[in-house]
Amino acid sequence: MATFLIKNIGEFFTGDLDQPQLPVKSVLIENKLIAALDPPSDTQADATVDAGNSAVMPGLIDGHVHPVFGEWTPTQDTIGWIGNYVHGGTTTMISAGELHVPGLDYEHMTPDLVTSLAVVTAATTGRVRWSGAKVHAGTVLLVPGMKEEHFDRLAAAKAVLAKYLFFPLATHKDEALTYNKWCRERGIRIKVHTGGVSRSGLSQICGYDILSWLQPDVAAHVSGGPIPMSDHDLDRVIDETAFALEICSSGNYGSTQRAVRRLKDKGLLRRLTLGTDTPGGTGIIPRGMLRQLCFMSSVCDISPAEAIAIATGNTARAHGLECGILAVGKPADLVVCGPVEGSAGTSVTDAIAHGDLPGIAYVLIDGEIVVSGRSRQTPPPQRKYFFSCCEAHAGGFQVTRP
Ligand SMILES: [Zn+2]
Repeated sequence: MATFLIKNIGEFFTGDLDQPQLPVKSVLIENKLIAALDPPSDTQADATVDAGNSAVMPGLIDGHVHPVFGEWTPTQDTIGWIGNYVHGGTTTMISAGELHVPGLDYEHMTPDLVTSLAVVTAATTGRVRWSGAKVHAGTVLLVPGMKEEHFDRLAAAKAVLAKYLFFPLATHKDEALTYNKWCRERGIRIKVHTGGVSRSGLSQICGYDILSWLQPDVAAHVSGGPIPMSDHDLDRVIDETAFALEICSSGNYGSTQRAVRRLKDKGLLRRLTLGTDTPGGTGIIPRGMLRQLCFMSSVCDISPAEAIAIATGNTARAHGLECGILAVGKPADLVVCGPVEGSAGTSVTDAIAHGDLPGIAYVLIDGEIVVSGRSRQTPPPQRKYFFSCCEAHAGGFQVTRP
């Protein structure tokens, strides 16, 4: 479809923390991008969705996933997980490392092996739009002994992220700082595992002392993935550093509250990013990002519009991605949703503030419909939606991707 119009919008969430909600009533999409907000009322499009006064928000961005081979993950022996996440409103995912490849020997990983693993994953899982999702795969698991040419290979594979997980940061400071430089010279962002040992049993413990000199772009799951750093370290990381801080569904609820409230009180919510840290020991969570929104709002006192901006614009910016914001010229990655029958209040804002999942009707990625009329993972929204494109498809239109 060349042009697509969403009209009759009741709540419009921008994904921009500085102005997270606007009184926009309609959105025109053309050639994968947002062409206009509130175009003239006589605007015609190839297809139209009447949103029935419900909500439009940017597609959610899961900043921490662990893909392996396409839509299959061996961690819970599940097939189709990416499509299930798309039905939970996630349109972009960023790999935090492909460590779950069966048989990978964490104690004997060489520079060539970790680089090749990232390059192969980028060229396979990262090459295809599984269920329409934008999956940034090919995140190297840094190990000692890497040379600059390894980072050239990663850059050629268009890697967006490199990860310290098994790397012995406590004893290899100079080497890590050299890696940081090589990454940044190639536009590759740096993420580090924080907190205690993870399911792998071999991840390196990381708290304030290491973060203070490492200065990553994103400190992963600062409230636990699954074990958080100490409360004292968490407070110091918030107070004494400036990089992005990620909260994941795999974390500790108490530490999450502590971190989010402290960031809010100090006016530092721009540093906050979200992810699920799944598939993994926490499971497969198709509604994981929606649940993060609900937890942020109903437990941590973040407004729903701000929580949405944290899950979209903030998370994209921290990883150097252009999605996550609904503005003219930006990718048309968005979710049309409404409150579920029986939910608190009358709007998506009311629902999220109360901790209730919204019901998803449509998900668009690059202007293409990937969820049409009804998510298979959320309850249906209470309001009815009307899709029209031509006489043949008046009513009951279902779009399936080739
Ligand atoms: Zn992880």
